[in-house]
Amino acid sequence: MSRDPIIDPEILADARKRALHGGAHRDEGATYAPAVARPPAIVAGWACRARCGRFVPVDDAAVSALASNNATLRRRGEPELGEHEIVFCPRCKHGAAPDRAEALRRRVDETAKLIAELKTLVDNDLRERSLLARLRDLGHPDVEGLRRAIAESRAAKNTTTKRRTI
Ligand SMILES: [Zn+2]
Repeated sequence: MSRDPIIDPEILADARKRALHGGAHRDEGATYAPAVARPPAIVAGWACRARCGRFVPVDDAAVSALASNNATLRRRGEPELGEHEIVFCPRCKHGAAPDRAEALRRRVDETAKLIAELKTLVDNDLRERSLLARLRDLGHPDVEGLRRAIAESRAAKNTTTKRRTI
């Protein structure tokens, strides 16, 4: 079993803050569950908010934090949070986010390299086509505009070169 925190501390802190804040606006008759120090008991399994399909065991503090948070949201007429929107499973929390950042970094690096190579290409339509295709695969938003811009700058360079050599 994982010893990772079973609820995102930020979410929990926010839920507690919201609950306290909401509570401050209550007039009377407010009843709060007293905070009792005891080892957390796993009372529920919430679906991972990354929608990976795994369930995350949560303790009663998390359940009551969500309940009071939702009570506050309800009073304000705001949409409540579902159990599937609260916690990441350990794998998504520690794995997915860095993976996504790393993948993005790799994509940015590769895109920059491809564009740099494109700019240096001379009369190599085949290579140019494959570089442009790869940029399209990488999700470059305007491959055609890029192609035009590079062609124009090449044309401008050629003109300059010709003028110099004449
Ligand atoms: Zn997950």
